[in-house]
Amino acid sequence: MSTFQNSRNPDAHSPGTRCGGLSPQSRLVAGGRPEPVADAPLNEPVTLASTYHAGGERGYGRYGNPTWEAFEDVLGDLEGGSALAFASGMAASTAVLELLPAGAVVVAPDCAYLGVLEQMRERHEARRIELRQVDVSDTPAVRAALAGASMVWLESPTNPKLDIADVAAIGAAAHEAGALTVVDNTFATPLLQQPLQLGADVVVHSVTKLLSGHSDVVAGATVTSDDGVSARLDRHRRLHGATPSPMDTYLALRGMRTLGVRLDRAQANAAELTRRLSEHPAVTRVRYPGWGSICSIEVVGGAPGADAVVDAVQLWVNTTSLGGVESTLERRRRWPAESHTVDESLIRLSVGIEDPDDLWQDLSRALDAARRH
Ligand SMILES: *Cc1c(COP(=O)(O)O)cnc(C)c1O
Repeated sequence: MSTFQNSRNPDAHSPGTRCGGLSPQSRLVAGGRPEPVADAPLNEPVTLASTYHAGGERGYGRYGNPTWEAFEDVLGDLEGGSALAFASGMAASTAVLELLPAGAVVVAPDCAYLGVLEQMRERHEARRIELRQVDVSDTPAVRAALAGASMVWLESPTNPKLDIADVAAIGAAAHEAGALTVVDNTFATPLLQQPLQLGADVVVHSVTKLLSGHSDVVAGATVTSDDGVSARLDRHRRLHGATPSPMDTYLALRGMRTLGVRLDRAQANAAELTRRLSEHPAVTRVRYPGWGSICSIEVVGGAPGADAVVDAVQLWVNTTSLGGVESTLERRRRWPAESHTVDESLIRLSVGIEDPDDLWQDLSRALDAARRH
């Protein structure tokens, strides 16, 4: 049995969401397949179609596609709602923000995925929303910001500080305040956290990351169990055209078939590496919630020290993005828009599935470079 059933994420609800007696790992493999009739393919093929014969439900290539639907069936099943595939995580996030009426108050993290925060700030400056940024790991601070809010946007763990938001407590308080709770579940994946079971209304994914898992797809998704919200998001996708390519949703589902074993290995690697990193003399702080495959470290020597580390690695890849089978790292403050609450020396690590001893050897040698700064 996979270790996920005993995940160290206290919020994981895997056993409670078993469907038809199958665990999430099995549903990732068995779901979203064509009817098992003679000579049917095992996998839903890539359907390249701009239009369909009249009289059916899909109608047109911007409205629906069987390859999208196979992907959506599997993701929706795992999150416990109905999923919609989008062109990117940003397209999915935009669709959710477009649910808001003009001038709506949005409570959002002070530090989170930059693209989403930058879009929110632009909307705020254009007076399309009123943005209130708080530390989402501080539940009383979130509660205090809720008066008059229409939406609470959470990321947990947060990027790149790996703080944890109490989704259940915040979701309950948001409901009382009449606000919709949105959770960007990209870092956790539905194997480690199911926000809808914790009381959230909408889940957003950058499918680009762990779900597709091989650094070769840009795609996104929303999931909700609220039929009205789902219909509005679907209508947004139709009218604003933020549709994914059939090939990308095919690759995303193919990647998701192995999410269980990939995450199992990456999580075990991350746990072992963070244990060793906490004892390395060049590391001043390790940020890891105790589960998942993403962690961050702060190192001696400030920005130059961290730059020396990312320049010195050979197996690890110095790059942005995360969640692939390969281990990657980057100094986050190299991005001018990154929050100034993030230390100059913070390096975010996306731990992959390589041999942990090889990863350690490469990283610890590179960390010695920071000590020379
Ligand atoms: C990458 C990412 C996004 C944006 O997704 P894209 O697929 O790059 O558009 C949103 N949220 C988080 C947490 C991410 O890591």
